[in-house]
Amino acid sequence: MKLTSELKVFNSFGIEANAMSIHIVKNKHSLQKQWLNAKNKQLPVLLLGSGSNILFTENFEGVVIINRIKGIKLTETNKFWHIHAHSGENWHQLIITLLNKGIYGIENLAMIPGCVGSAPIQNIGAYGLEFKDICEYVDILSLKTNKVSRLSANKCKFKYRDSIFKHEYQNTHIIIHVGLILSKTWSPKLKYDIFKKFNPFTVTPQQIFKTVCQARKNKLPDPAIFGNAGSFFKNPIISKKQAKKIKEDFPNCPQYIQSNGKVKLAAGWLIDQCGLKGYELGGAAVHTKQALVLINKNSASQSNIINLAKFLTHTIANRFNIILEPEVRFIGKKGEINAMNCIL
Ligand SMILES: Cc1cc2nc3c(=O)[nH]c(=O)nc-3n(C[C@H](O)[C@H](O)[C@H](O)COP(=O)(O)OP(=O)(O)OC[C@H]3O[C@@H](n4cnc5c(N)ncnc54)[C@H](O)[C@@H]3O)c2cc1C
Repeated sequence: MKLTSELKVFNSFGIEANAMSIHIVKNKHSLQKQWLNAKNKQLPVLLLGSGSNILFTENFEGVVIINRIKGIKLTETNKFWHIHAHSGENWHQLIITLLNKGIYGIENLAMIPGCVGSAPIQNIGAYGLEFKDICEYVDILSLKTNKVSRLSANKCKFKYRDSIFKHEYQNTHIIIHVGLILSKTWSPKLKYDIFKKFNPFTVTPQQIFKTVCQARKNKLPDPAIFGNAGSFFKNPIISKKQAKKIKEDFPNCPQYIQSNGKVKLAAGWLIDQCGLKGYELGGAAVHTKQALVLINKNSASQSNIINLAKFLTHTIANRFNIILEPEVRFIGKKGEINAMNCIL
């Protein structure tokens, strides 16, 4: 089997890996055609947006399809803007387009890399807003029947970095369009400290957009300089009892009570507490400004990243009795593999 197509530029970690072939598709018909061709040859297929939430753990022995299906349609009712966006649109560019048209309410999610069609999958979130808060529907294409069906937001089972698209629909459907709903009466979401300086009555969406972009530039590594996939681990959600015990031992530990009574901790804080900010293993490292981000500092191999993740997971487990779970999706030679099995 010849694996000559290079995946390095198609994953934000900048990891060297090859596939049999890579196809950039610009319409639904080409996507279906490439998918069917690969399936007829019994080859594994991987659909990617911008590759900003994946780690190739080895060469991919199949066909990679890069989604660049574009198009945005706006409609309005008295109170709302309705945005119908094709899944290959760039998420950040969509936000800029909407801001320029005077459509607001999405600016807290600025500068999250990736495509529109990937946003529902892990219910992207940042600075007090999640995709689910602005989602009206998600259109999915069945790879078996070629039919498109619409799931309203309440059918998508959105949770923290999770949705139905990581489970029931993962291998059978792809996201083809996304529908957003934004109120014409804008109200700022200023829960986070970075917005402290603003007066809620005078702040503008543009100011929020700029503040978010600046905060992200200050804190997160630019994948063009140091490859990375954003937060490597999910923030752990633990029981109230365990949270109380941790607070007794570590009074400074930030804790966020969830609506179900459980408590969310900051995984970056846990890593930082173990003195591991900047820690390096082979070419991989823990980012110095945000311990939750693992970077490809110096031509890291996949095993450098995996071994670093393994080391962090074991260190946190020993110190806090908490098992960290990767947010990044691990892609093996035939498709997604269980990331937990790789790091435990
Ligand atoms: C610097 C940086 C900062 C980040 N910050 C955040 C953040 O603040 N919040 C956050 O939530 N995430 C963040 N991320 C993670 C990432 O940006 C998001 O998860 C994003 O939605 C991934 O989009 P993508 O197009 O790159 O997905 P990809 O990595 O291309 O794909 C991810 C998974 O989705 C599948 N997939 C892709 N497209 C489709 C489709 N159309 N239909 C079905 N399956 C599909 C792929 O097969 C893969 O399994 C960050 C990443 C980086 C590099």
